[in-house]
Amino acid sequence: MPSKNNIGKKILIIGGGIHGAYIARYAAQNGFSVTLLEKSDFASGTSSRSSKMAHGGLRYLELFDFKQVFEGIKARDELFKEVPHLAKPEKFLIPIPKNNFFFKYKLKIGLMLYDLMLKNKSLKHFWIPRKNLNFQGFNSKSEDLEGCFVYNDGLMNDSRIVIENILLAEKHGATCLNYSEVIKSRKLNKQREITYKNCLNETTNTVICDIVINCTGPWVNNIDEILGVENNINLKYSRGSHLIFNTPWNTPSLFLPMPGKARYYFVWKHLGGTMVGTTEREITNLEENPEASKSEVQEILDRLKKDLPSENLNESTLYYSFAGIRTLPMRDRKSETGTVSRKHIWKMNDNVLSLYGGKYTTASWTAFEGLKLLSEHLSLKSKLVKKSEKLNLGIDALNPDLKKAVSHCLEKEHVKKIEDLMRRRLGVEYLPNYKSELYEKVITIVKEIKPLLID
Ligand SMILES: Cc1cc2nc3c(=O)[nH]c(=O)nc-3n(C[C@H](O)[C@H](O)[C@H](O)COP(=O)(O)OP(=O)(O)OC[C@H]3O[C@@H](n4cnc5c(N)ncnc54)[C@H](O)[C@@H]3O)c2cc1C
Repeated sequence: MPSKNNIGKKILIIGGGIHGAYIARYAAQNGFSVTLLEKSDFASGTSSRSSKMAHGGLRYLELFDFKQVFEGIKARDELFKEVPHLAKPEKFLIPIPKNNFFFKYKLKIGLMLYDLMLKNKSLKHFWIPRKNLNFQGFNSKSEDLEGCFVYNDGLMNDSRIVIENILLAEKHGATCLNYSEVIKSRKLNKQREITYKNCLNETTNTVICDIVINCTGPWVNNIDEILGVENNINLKYSRGSHLIFNTPWNTPSLFLPMPGKARYYFVWKHLGGTMVGTTEREITNLEENPEASKSEVQEILDRLKKDLPSENLNESTLYYSFAGIRTLPMRDRKSETGTVSRKHIWKMNDNVLSLYGGKYTTASWTAFEGLKLLSEHLSLKSKLVKKSEKLNLGIDALNPDLKKAVSHCLEKEHVKKIEDLMRRRLGVEYLPNYKSELYEKVITIVKEIKPLLID
């Protein structure tokens, strides 16, 4: 039962990415009166553009971020339990070249620490010497391979986890609006009046709230400015790009060192093909719809040619790319984005709670932490409950009953544009046969059910 103590406190959440969606759900479950406004589609910001890895953050161990890794592993395991249809465990191979003792033992120590934090000890890492490897695709001419470490993390469907949280928030009474952009704020006595624009018909509306939660990812400082709060958090932004190839990937996922850079890139199965990512390009201008640049595409293709020359991951099989913006709150003066901690920061100022940074896998923890801060700030006595809830709608890009899936999305999931449906609800846009076959198939169904959606 939601606490009576919270009922009546009006929370306005700005941003319908994973953080906004979790907060809306937990706040609504706990009896708050919740409105969430998203300027574009739910999950259209960073939360559909991640590497889709549910992970503890093995490489954060190099930054001695033990707490973050520990929380990451726990949050990852919670995802596997709560949304098993959208987040699944996955094995990753990390190849180790011969005579590279430093790299091997540094990684070994990291993996041992990772194991120490595991609840399920059967998921500990192990070593496969080269002669026992099933996967033969590594380039072994220039860098002879000693073997591979195998460790466990997971993969997820990022946009659908957002959508399911939005639907759960609504089930508990929240009002969640997409294509609703916050443009103005006015302080009333103890409250605020927030003006938002309907981006589909350009009309404006207002909402009155006791507290605002700013979950706008890379745009957090813009919204702070509209709200008139100044937290002086120095942010860095970096673009990460991913490529999808129409080559099916039927072997284990790979985690490959990026020589000369303190990071890895990955190769794994993604729906009908293979996904490879990611780059790390520091940027100063925020893009609304970031895209992979030519040089990023080339950087990945060059690496693949060197590392996996026989796997048919090249220009001729490349058919899709996407990019997202990482928001990195700076705690020190280090300038390399790859070595900046991924830990988020919450700030409460003038009844506005703003989130800087954050990671998808730990978003449920971060969201609940934010809600607790808000509750303390409002001196609410009742204990907040983090309630696990399942909502398996069985929708994914490979669903054989396309008509049922399309009609569910059109009726229940706030689809306003064809892109919402193809990219973030069904995910069919990522499939190799999208242009040749699926696009027309889905459009035919949409014409039958909701003809007005077609421009
Ligand atoms: C390349 C890349 C790879 C990543 N890979 C992983 C990974 O594998 N695993 C992992 O755990 N994490 C990963 N992350 C991190 C993760 O994706 C982000 O932490 C997470 O998606 C951020 O979610 P968010 O809700 O904070 O922000 P967003 O998803 O960006 O949501 C913010 C929303 O605010 C909206 N907004 C902005 N202005 C307004 C306004 N005026 N009015 C209303 N709404 C507004 C935006 O439209 C947007 O939808 C990755 C990030 C990147 C960039």
